[in-house]
Amino acid sequence: MLQQVNGHSLGTDAQCGEPLRGDLQDFLGGETLLYQLDDLTKVNPVTLETVLRCLQARYTTDTFYTNAGCTLVALNPFKPVPQLYSPELMREYHTAPQPQKLKPHVFTVGEQTYRNVKSLIEPVNQSIVVSGESGAGKTWTSRCLMKFYAVVASSPTSWESHQVAERIEQRILNSNPVMEAFGNACTLRNNNSSRFGKFIQLQLNRAQQMTGAAVQTYLLEKTRVACQASSERNFHIFYQICKGASANERLQWHLPEGAAFSWLPNPERTLEEDCFEVTREAMLHLGIDTPTQNNIFKVLAGLLHLGNVRFADSEDEAQPCQLMDYAKCSVRTLASLLQLPEDALLETLRIRTIRAGRQQQVFQKPCSRAECDTRRDCLAKLVYARLFDWLVSVINSSIYADPDSWTTFIGLLDVYGFESFPDNSLEQLCINYANEKLQQHFVAHFLRVQQEEYAVEGLEWSFVNYQDNQSCLDLIEGSPISICSLLNEECRLNRPNSAAQLQMRIESVLAGRPCLGQNKLSREPSFIVVHYAGPVCYHTAGLVEKNKDPVPPELTGLLQQSQDPLLKVLFPTNPKEKSQEEPSGQSRAPVLTVVSRFKASLEQLLQVLHDTTPHYIRCIKPNSQGQAQTFVREEVLSQLEACGLVETIHISAAGFPIRVSHRNFVERYELLRRLHPRASPGPHSPSPAKGHSKGPPHAKEVTLQPLLRDILHTLPALTRAAATLG
Ligand code: ADP
Ligand code: MG
Repeated sequence: MLQQVNGHSLGTDAQCGEPLRGDLQDFLGGETLLYQLDDLTKVNPVTLETVLRCLQARYTTDTFYTNAGCTLVALNPFKPVPQLYSPELMREYHTAPQPQKLKPHVFTVGEQTYRNVKSLIEPVNQSIVVSGESGAGKTWTSRCLMKFYAVVASSPTSWESHQVAERIEQRILNSNPVMEAFGNACTLRNNNSSRFGKFIQLQLNRAQQMTGAAVQTYLLEKTRVACQASSERNFHIFYQICKGASANERLQWHLPEGAAFSWLPNPERTLEEDCFEVTREAMLHLGIDTPTQNNIFKVLAGLLHLGNVRFADSEDEAQPCQLMDYAKCSVRTLASLLQLPEDALLETLRIRTIRAGRQQQVFQKPCSRAECDTRRDCLAKLVYARLFDWLVSVINSSIYADPDSWTTFIGLLDVYGFESFPDNSLEQLCINYANEKLQQHFVAHFLRVQQEEYAVEGLEWSFVNYQDNQSCLDLIEGSPISICSLLNEECRLNRPNSAAQLQMRIESVLAGRPCLGQNKLSREPSFIVVHYAGPVCYHTAGLVEKNKDPVPPELTGLLQQSQDPLLKVLFPTNPKEKSQEEPSGQSRAPVLTVVSRFKASLEQLLQVLHDTTPHYIRCIKPNSQGQAQTFVREEVLSQLEACGLVETIHISAAGFPIRVSHRNFVERYELLRRLHPRASPGPHSPSPAKGHSKGPPHAKEVTLQPLLRDILHTLPALTRAAATLG
């Protein structure tokens, strides 16, 4: 179907392959074809439709990267494009005098960032924020950047340092398959969806070589280990073990061929991520030897057997639930794999210990069947989450660099994008909250700062309306009252029917907040938050419980009894500090909820980002089926809207692309003033708004010092001279 936008035909809807010459070339002076526009700031006029059309035209010609001023837009090709990521191309971008003059690429961002770190003008730490929906290509992009730096940031001089560099880079790269095996899963949206957020800091020495790295992870979706949606899967590692174990290992881990595990749904789907050997090899490189690996896999096999444990309803409340007959064998196997006493295991799953009164007297109460199931799932989550954290700490110690050995870093942030499902809970609230914070950071950095700076400098400027998400953040995390504070308060008060209480308080205390809505169609208690990327309906049921994330102390106590070497490490009997998961008992200390922990780690992350120069890559998914050559306009459109790309382009098109503080500028170019006392503007005068109708903002004579103006005119000649010198 042909669409009309401003009287111009915009081509077909979904399948690409139509002729590229859109009528929009009229806009563009009739010369440039739409697909040739490598910067969306050159599209004129800048509207959602023209931007969309340009991206579609480029996608059709297998051009997946496009600049949007200060942001790089990356379309997911959904097919292998090896020539686009070859080491030769990496070197080409690395050695180019002006990489930004080459075709837009993730390597341009990589190289620009790398050069900024060593910039003589203002050497500062850099960060690259990769954002986008699930399946848009964030993890691919950050992996690609890591490979780029592994190539370009290793030019050691001595043999010894070469060895170190190779080891470090290889180890950093090896962290990817390991973290993905344990932290990624096949979801409806992405076969290799990351179920945790990741910030990796690549550390560089004065010679610009990578000397080490540090990984920080956020909010692993640990519920997945015990609960998977019907068309989804558990974490990849479980399938890798079941498919890749040798006959002998199967025997040791009690995983007979064809065994059915209820926590292993959809095992028949074979994915390329199911490669056990790759994970094992990478673990070995990270210093996790084969016996330790086998120990890990044995514990994970134990968790699969735990998933098959089923209880029957107890007829007598005073008696513990009975095990279903078929589950007896699972408990025995589980106890042997986790090296736990079988009776203690059964007792912990079925009987609750309560301490009450001043003397902290101990009472025991049999659990209902539902409570037994919760305890079983909790046990699995507890082991898996500790194992994941431990793996991250092993990876960190393997790629660790002495703080004296590095001076600057490049941070890569790959966090899961905005999520909206039919049923949204605490996980989505946290993810979307993180995305709001990142959006605010983006807005603050590129939009607000720029506009306000122009206003302060007295530059003529027509203000672009941008979507400020402060009111949404106030609703979620603001003080004194917000969704988070009400949620935490419910956890602290620990009263019965907390979900209803929470719902009532949100509706009354937060009534009238601009970003809060009600879903009149929903039969369940819920509330709507109008996020910058769209409204999301959250179900209140379960929020408080999930936020408490309670771990019965008996479960930790049970695991401390294990004779298994790995579990002994994960659950030491004398932990240095009190485990966060354990409830604070009768004490009045504030409950450390999921939300408050997440908020704290998010704030830390934002502080790190704030202290760096950020670069943004927006990944876009051309279709939700993951098909190559398919560009679904509606789906791309909603992603463009969600990230406010058009506003970004407007501002980038009209703004100064480079800003250096006055002091640094004078220090660096003072000499030129003496060389060219009255340099005249040449044909290459800075014109950041090439092709844009608005043109660059004009500095008022009175606000720019004559010295700066003169120097500014000499700048292009200087840049060209520097480029010739290499
Ligand atoms: P996200 O992390 O945003 O959820 P991924 O990075 O896992 O998404 O990408 C999803 C899938 O898309 C990948 O598994 C891969 O098959 C494909 N993909 C993403 N980017 C590229 C690319 N640049 N080239 C080829 N395939 C890609
Ligand atoms: Mg990912």
